Amino acid sequence: MIKEGLEKIVGAEAVLRQQPLSQYTSLKVGGAAEYLVKPKAYHEVAEIIAFCSARDIPWRVLGRGTNVLVSDQGLEGVVISLTDNLAKITVAGAKIIAQAGASLPRASSVALVNKLTGLEFAAGIPGSVGGAVVMNAGAYGGEMKDVLRRVQAVNSQGELVTFAAQEMELAYRSSVFQHNGHVVLEAELELVPGDPLAIQEKMDDFNRRRREKQPLEAASAGSTFKRPEGHYAGQLIESCNLRGTALGGAAVSEKHCGFIINTGQATAQDIYDLIRKVQAEVEKRHNVRLEPEVKIWGEFRDTR
Ligand SMILES: Cc1cc2nc3c(=O)[nH]c(=O)nc-3n(C[C@H](O)[C@H](O)[C@H](O)COP(=O)(O)OP(=O)(O)OC[C@H]3O[C@@H](n4cnc5c(N)ncnc54)[C@H](O)[C@@H]3O)c2cc1C
Repeated sequence: MIKEGLEKIVGAEAVLRQQPLSQYTSLKVGGAAEYLVKPKAYHEVAEIIAFCSARDIPWRVLGRGTNVLVSDQGLEGVVISLTDNLAKITVAGAKIIAQAGASLPRASSVALVNKLTGLEFAAGIPGSVGGAVVMNAGAYGGEMKDVLRRVQAVNSQGELVTFAAQEMELAYRSSVFQHNGHVVLEAELELVPGDPLAIQEKMDDFNRRRREKQPLEAASAGSTFKRPEGHYAGQLIESCNLRGTALGGAAVSEKHCGFIINTGQATAQDIYDLIRKVQAEVEKRHNVRLEPEVKIWGEFRDTR
């Protein structure tokens, strides 16, 4: 019944049963999604949401999976996957209009090719444009807030809505889309004409600094925790002597304490337990509560 309903909207080839989400997330952990659907058009996203809402079927949207930790037990209901199936990027003057599933580094490359500056910070952030809007992703002094002008989204009733920048409540790793249950479909970014050599140099510099400082060779979700006011998460973690600390297959990166990595055989529960351990030790020592930046999906056991 659910399967038939979804297939009617997106076609049989775009509805996958029991898909292991470890294959769709950069942490490479997580059980199966009961249904994973890959819409190819905005109206399909709207119809999926309306279909699920009318039947009380739980649903979530997954971009490139670079900022989520999915439970080993997997997820009931529907995961709407927005990647290459909705990834068109168009350029109009100094504006880039990107569909939510487009890769952010690709949007950054399109900016370079079109001699537009302002998106260099995004060259090494491995998520989707939609995920970057929702997270207000940023690095090296730049963030989506600086360039985002308009977003087209679909609300929880399946209706298309448009947001202007000032309506998006963009703040450090936060936006209105983390709370309002909307799915971002498309973003309009406003850049500035620039010198391609200078743009390329800036991107190369950011990417070199990333390679030097971050464990890019390991599976991770980037910085595990948000930066607490007045501190750096990595420094607080290091000062608790947690560098390299392992729990099962999860470890605090030797290279950058702000990253919890999957050393190869981690379960999602290992990563979750290590997050809790790090939080507890930092709180005990510094009286600072680290808030995960990574979104935690599904059920976990709290053993601490
Ligand atoms: C090696 C590495 C380095 C990283 N470096 C940085 C960095 O420098 N700066 C930074 O900010 N982040 C960084 N990240 C984290 C991550 O890449 C960003 O948060 C990114 O914006 C997430 O995009 P995504 O498509 O992967 O989102 P997902 O991980 O797929 O989803 C993240 C959240 O956004 C929601 N979401 C995704 N797409 C949509 C949509 N279209 N509509 C509504 N909700 C949606 C999901 O439901 C989920 O809640 C890094 C990650 C890795 C692995």
